[in-house]
Amino acid sequence: MNVKNIKSFIDFYKTLEISMCIAPLPRFQKKNNQKELISKKLKQPTSLKYNDKNKDKKLKELIEEIKSCKCDLKDVATNTVLSDGRNNSNIMLIGEAPGADEDRVGKPFVGQAGQLLDKMFGYINLSREENLYITNLVFWRPPGNRNPNKQEISICLPLTKKHIGIINPKLLILLGNVASQSILSTNEGINILRKKENYFIDKNLNLKIPVKAIFHPAYLLRNPIEKKTMWNDLLDIDDFISTNNII
Ligand code: URA
Repeated sequence: MNVKNIKSFIDFYKTLEISMCIAPLPRFQKKNNQKELISKKLKQPTSLKYNDKNKDKKLKELIEEIKSCKCDLKDVATNTVLSDGRNNSNIMLIGEAPGADEDRVGKPFVGQAGQLLDKMFGYINLSREENLYITNLVFWRPPGNRNPNKQEISICLPLTKKHIGIINPKLLILLGNVASQSILSTNEGINILRKKENYFIDKNLNLKIPVKAIFHPAYLLRNPIEKKTMWNDLLDIDDFISTNNII
C-alpha cells in the first residue's frame, strides 16, 4: 500500500468513526498465481471497433440516436443526460438514471450521490477530470426519482451497450442493482455480483470487458454502515487496475 492509500484509508475510516483496524486487507490475501490468472484472461483480445479519431463522431451520432428514440421519460425530463469525464478513459462507470440535479444540469452524478462518488474514487486516485468516464443506463430522469421500469430500460439498454462499444473501456464499473442486473443480464443481486468475477460480453461488437459491480452511492447515503464494504471493494478495484495495467 502506498503512502497516499494509507492516508486515504485512515481518512475514510475516520469519517466512519473507526479508530482501529486489525484485519489484513483482502487485496493482500490474493495469491500471486490468482493475479496472473486474471492478467492472462484479460490478454484475450477485445476488438477496438472505433479508433480515437472517430470516437467523437460516433458519440455525436449516438446522442442523436438517443434524442430521437421513443422513450416516454424524455417528455417529462428537462435534459437528456449522457456523460461526463474523459471519453478516452479506460474506466467507464455506469449508474442507474439521472436524478433532479442531473436533470437540471444535464450531466450525470452532480448531486449528493455524485459528490460521494467523486470522493470514493478520489480515495483510489480516480477522477472524472483525469481517468473516468461516467454515464447512466437510462438517459432521462424518471419522475419522482423512481427506478426506471422494464420498458424504459429495454429502450435504453441497446443504446447503453452501443455507448460501451464506442468507449471500449478496459474496465466497466456498474453502480447498484439496476445497472448491474440490466447490463449483465442477470437476476442476481448486487450483494452477489459485487463478489463475483463478471464480464460484459457483446458478441455483435466482439467485446469482452471485465466488470466490477459495486453499491450505488445513493444506497451508501441511506446505509452508511456499508461504506466499510465499499472501501474494500474500492481497494479491490485499485488492485485490479494496477495488476492489469488498466491505466
Ligand atoms: N444516480 C444515478 O444513478 N445517476 C445519476 O446521474 C445520479 C444519481
